[in-house]
Amino acid sequence: MKIAVCVKQVPDTEAEIKWDTEKGVLKRDAIDPITNPFDEFAIEEALLTREKYDCEIYAISMGPERAQEVLRNALALGVNGVYHINDPQLSGSDTFGTAYALANAIKKIGDVDIVFMGRQSTDGSTGAVPGEIASILGYTPLTYVAKIREIDFKAKRIVVERAIEGGFEVVEGKLPAVVSVIKGINEPRLPNLMGIRKAAKMEIPKWNCDDLGLEKDKIGLAASATRVTEISVPPPKGQGEILKGDLEEIAETLVSKLLDLKIIK
Ligand SMILES: Cc1cc2nc3c(=O)[nH]c(=O)nc-3n(C[C@H](O)[C@H](O)[C@H](O)COP(=O)(O)OP(=O)(O)OC[C@H]3O[C@@H](n4cnc5c(N)ncnc54)[C@H](O)[C@@H]3O)c2cc1C
Repeated sequence: MKIAVCVKQVPDTEAEIKWDTEKGVLKRDAIDPITNPFDEFAIEEALLTREKYDCEIYAISMGPERAQEVLRNALALGVNGVYHINDPQLSGSDTFGTAYALANAIKKIGDVDIVFMGRQSTDGSTGAVPGEIASILGYTPLTYVAKIREIDFKAKRIVVERAIEGGFEVVEGKLPAVVSVIKGINEPRLPNLMGIRKAAKMEIPKWNCDDLGLEKDKIGLAASATRVTEISVPPPKGQGEILKGDLEEIAETLVSKLLDLKIIK
């Protein structure tokens, strides 16, 4: 029984984001990278699943050379193996190009029952990749998962709780499935010193487009169906106004201002 976990390297959420406005892509080299925070919950869910059922975990990341740092972190946490999809031809791939490469890597690992992912990344933030991978592979898509209730690897069945507006819904699905998890599904553990030391010495296998049998007209910036054409920050908020006077005066002024603005009638 095998589990795959997708982990994306993203710019540190505390850092100032820099964009290449001409190309419409992030200037990733200019920012300290971290593991996508949602993916930490995905790794933890994979580790918790392995503690309950007998299975192996493989982490995959697609990204430039330094994306291997997030895979070292996964190794330090104790996953069985990692794969780094790294090919300059993949640079600039949109969500579909990314999902296509990740799906082919999952196929290459073989016999994967569950793919754990974060519900979205903190940079691209489309939340599209999990559904796209499920669609390419024909796996059951289970997104926004807040709890895994039950997995029956033999009967190829999984029961989860999905977060929906105002509550949760319980969904039963067939395996193999892509499960994207939300924040709070668990409490991600931290790697210990021994794990970090061991991971630092481990070889990280790399896969390029040929290894994954990727068709060149489906990947990279030129093949991307979507392109970021404009990037802007919201205009600064206007200055606020502090109303002065006693409570009755303040209430009267406030009501007349809201009437003027047609917020109340
Ligand atoms: C026009 C365009 C150009 C881009 N150029 C670049 C670029 O030059 N360099 C670059 O690194 N990215 C680039 N990206 C973004 C890159 O392709 C993203 O990885 C991809 O678009 C995923 O989108 P997202 O971050 O919105 O994923 P989401 O759907 O929000 O992510 C959901 C989950 O999918 C998984 N996931 C997503 N991406 C990856 C990944 N790469 N590896 C492993 N798991 C993943 C994670 O588990 C994540 O939590 C570009 C995107 C577009 C649209």
